[in-house]
Amino acid sequence: EREKNIMTGVLGLKTKKISDIMTHLIDVFMLEADRVVDDELVLTVHGYGYSRIPVYEKQRDNIIGLVNIRDFALLDTESGKFTVRSVMNFYKHRYGKVIMSDDSCYDVFNQLKKEQYHLGIVAEHDSSSKKDPKPRAIGIVTLEDIIEEMIQEE
Ligand code: ATP
Ligand code: ATP
Repeated sequence: EREKNIMTGVLGLKTKKISDIMTHLIDVFMLEADRVVDDELVLTVHGYGYSRIPVYEKQRDNIIGLVNIRDFALLDTESGKFTVRSVMNFYKHRYGKVIMSDDSCYDVFNQLKKEQYHLGIVAEHDSSSKKDPKPRAIGIVTLEDIIEEMIQEE
């Protein structure tokens, strides 16, 4: 029965769009690039506990990179001279894989696996303005999200 559910889950990945299972931007814990790294920020980061944290500039849909929770471990917060941006530039984690919101979960799973990304940044091209081809983030998706979809129990 369990195997049957997994098969159904896997087959369902082809028809399900990533926008159906992503974590919406409003629910994503992210950090502003120019924020100074102080004790309060480190506590907040550990409070959420997410491994990967998107970094944005000005608006939340403008993601410019990622930091990892581990990056804050050995940081001197007293000096007040570190910003989220400087931490990001020091560790230089890869920017998450850019995923189009109407891609199927099946395709995205393969994309993430192939390029060994754990996290994808879900974007939607703004069709209204040709001047701004830069995709705006509408959410994130991790391998975890897709695997959960695969092994879901009824
Ligand atoms: P890991 O298991 O590698 O430590 P994690 O626990 O931080 O990672 P995942 O296991 O990849 O995160 O994902 C668990 C859920 O949390 C997924 O639904 C994912 O979309 C969501 N998620 C991951 N990072 C964030 C974040 N920064 N803000 C909000 N939700 C997140
Ligand atoms: P993970 O699930 O392993 O944490 P991730 O998608 O979060 O992967 P990163 O955090 O960017 O990806 O990288 C994980 C590890 O792989 C880090 O130690 C990082 O330095 C290293 N790494 C970064 N880019 C690449 C790459 N192109 N190929 C292989 N390893 C990489």
